Amino acid sequence: MRDKQFIIGVCNNVFSKLGCDPSKFWPFLDLVDFQSLDERKEIYNSVVEICIHILIWESKRQNVVCFSCVEGHQLFDKNSLECKSKLKIALTECSQIIIPILPSNHFTLAFINVVEKQFIYIHPFRENEKIRCIRRQHNLAVDHYIQVDTFNCGVNICQSFQSADLTEVEGPSEYKKTMKQKLMEFTDNLENICLHCGGVCNDGSVRCGDCGRSINNSCRSYHYNNSNEIRCVLCQIRGNI
Ligand SMILES: [Zn+2]
Ligand SMILES: [Zn+2]
Repeated sequence: MRDKQFIIGVCNNVFSKLGCDPSKFWPFLDLVDFQSLDERKEIYNSVVEICIHILIWESKRQNVVCFSCVEGHQLFDKNSLECKSKLKIALTECSQIIIPILPSNHFTLAFINVVEKQFIYIHPFRENEKIRCIRRQHNLAVDHYIQVDTFNCGVNICQSFQSADLTEVEGPSEYKKTMKQKLMEFTDNLENICLHCGGVCNDGSVRCGDCGRSINNSCRSYHYNNSNEIRCVLCQIRGNI
C-alpha cells in the first residue's frame, strides 16, 4: 500500500486557522482522495470535511464550527455523549454549526443557525426530509437541489453549504472541478513535505527532477534505492499534477 501513496495536498493550515480539533480531521490529501473527485466517483469523507472547511474559510464566516462526518453519525444515529456535549458547547459559543453525517455510504447534512434558532436537515435524495431536531431549534424544511445520480451526495452537501439558493446549484460534475481547484489552492506549502509519507523533509531529502516535490531520506531509500537524481514515481506513472 505504501508504494501507492502520494501526498498531493496537506490542509493543516485551513483546519488550524479555523481552530479545529486536529484529532478529528485528516489533513492529508492522497492522490486517491483527490481522484475521488473524478467523474462518477464517490468522494471520501476526509475530502468532504476539507472542502467544507475551505468553504467556511473562504466565506469569512465567524464563529462557525464543523463536525466530522463520523461525529455527525455518532450524534444523530448513536446518541454519543461525547458528541452531544460538543454540540451543547457549540450551541452556546458558535453562531453556526455544520454537521455532515455519514452513516454508511450516503452523506446528509445538518445545519444549525444558532442565532436564528433554525435547524435544517438536507438529504440530497429527498425533499423536506427531517431528522430529530436539536432542542430549542426550529426544524425548518428548505427546498433544495435533488440528487439525480447515485454517487454525488458528498458533492451535493458541500454545494448546499455554499449556495444561498439551494435549488439553483451548479451541476455536480462541474462543481467537482471547482473543488479540485480549491483543494490545490488552499493546500499548505508542500516544499518540505515528503511526497510519499507526508513527513517533514530535512537535510537528507532530495527533490524530483521533474516536479520538484521533496522526498525524505527514508522514502528515498525505500522507493529510489538512495539515488540522488530522482524522477518521482508519480511523474513516472502519470506526469505532473
Ligand atoms: Zn517520506
Ligand atoms: Zn515528480
